[in-house]
Amino acid sequence: MTEPTQPPAPAEEFAGREVTVAGLGVSGISAARALARFGARVTVVDGGDSETHRGRAAELESATGGAVTVRLGDAGTLPPGTTLVVTSPGWKPDSPLFAAAAEAGVPVWGDVELAWRLRGPDAPPWLAVTGTNGKTTTVQMLASILRAAGHRAPAVGNIGTPLVDVVLSEEPYDVLAVELSSYQLHWAPSLRPHSATVLNLAPDHLDWHGSMRAYADDKGRIYEGNRTACVYNVADPETERLVRQADVVEGCRAIGFTLGSPRPSELGVVDGILVDRAFVENRAEQAQELAEVSDVTPAAPHNIANALAAAALARAFGVPANAVREGLRAFQPDAHRIQHVADVDGVAYVDDSKATNTHATEASLAAYDPIVWVAGGLAKGATFDELVRNAAKRLRAAVLIGADRHLIREALARHAPDVPVVDLERTDTGAMSAAVAEASRLAVTGDTVLLAPACASMDMFVNYNARGDAFADAVRDLAADGRERQEQQ
Ligand code: ADP
Repeated sequence: MTEPTQPPAPAEEFAGREVTVAGLGVSGISAARALARFGARVTVVDGGDSETHRGRAAELESATGGAVTVRLGDAGTLPPGTTLVVTSPGWKPDSPLFAAAAEAGVPVWGDVELAWRLRGPDAPPWLAVTGTNGKTTTVQMLASILRAAGHRAPAVGNIGTPLVDVVLSEEPYDVLAVELSSYQLHWAPSLRPHSATVLNLAPDHLDWHGSMRAYADDKGRIYEGNRTACVYNVADPETERLVRQADVVEGCRAIGFTLGSPRPSELGVVDGILVDRAFVENRAEQAQELAEVSDVTPAAPHNIANALAAAALARAFGVPANAVREGLRAFQPDAHRIQHVADVDGVAYVDDSKATNTHATEASLAAYDPIVWVAGGLAKGATFDELVRNAAKRLRAAVLIGADRHLIREALARHAPDVPVVDLERTDTGAMSAAVAEASRLAVTGDTVLLAPACASMDMFVNYNARGDAFADAVRDLAADGRERQEQQ
């Protein structure tokens, strides 16, 4: 059991302290500025030494009046006198700087730990979300529900404005819906959310964490010190294990969410209705209707799970049932997450470019039938056998793009030998148009052409947004061609 903690006032903790900030990116710059504001002497270190780095460094140094110094081109040695290292999320735990810090007995914090420590005494509570997939969607749903209940509640964290800036802003927030990555949790030892959830756990970023166990344990830190509810995924027992191993405030409850009928202390689905059997007077006998499955966009199973997790956190914060429905109805997912682009000749075209790993892709392949699947890119060490085996029956055809497409082709040959495969060698800017043209040729009325690559995009595109945009542009061109043909007839 643990008690809620209140850290010392920032001015006492940081005045005159020598702090090293690792990384001159958005998060590092915001950390350096905040630390300088509370009187620390800050050195920002970054291995890069490009024009951009130098420009940023000069701007930061002059804006902070000498309180911040930037050291470029050396990310490995600890500046003398350092008593604390604050790291940006991307830095690997085996970076030499952290080894040097450990040797010198100097603590390492991430941006989330710093934000947590900089909160004032009346700071709004945090409702925190992590998981392999669905984090952004879930915090946005959660913020939407909280707002529908009249709370001033932004979606923050691993998205948008750095947390440190949110915590120090003058905005009178009532509560924060916070997305946290496993990297951020790794370096956030004193974080104590009001309530939190681990949505799901599948192998991802194992190169960073070292092992699945280490990855899961980092995610599990989100439950430490929870006051009201630890929300877990009934279908993913590992998330429940993490709840059991967490040290929480007395009275904090374990709340499950499930796509099935809920048991007491769970939220679930009965006859197309999202119901709450956790935050009701008599949970042995009562359930409260929250919303309908059709209130959730898209109403794919994995996204209903996200909605239930968001609802559980909101209910833990005391939100009434009708605000859950209103908030879910008001929510529209961000682009490239199972986004319906257009219907052309009776075929739906769906952009899930954000499905950059097999776990996310499995969820979107489960949502459609039959599918012409557009996939491929950088595999990041993933294997595709299980994914293809589970989806085989729903695949009409596959169109493969990108550097590691042979891995998916081989899995298709093993587990879905009858599914026609088009293997596109092109990697030029027109490659996505060619992929969409091939997919449209293979699709028949009633099918869905689904871009769910199961891979990262950087072999062919700047990022997943650009990949999704290329897909959507190609689909719109296809639709326009179709209209022209019709007009000519
Ligand atoms: P994150 O912030 O964790 O990356 P997003 O909400 O941006 O999550 O969604 C990332 C990808 O994962 C999208 O392709 C989406 O369709 C898929 N996804 C969303 N929720 C889930 C879930 N609960 N389980 C599996 N995949 C999901």
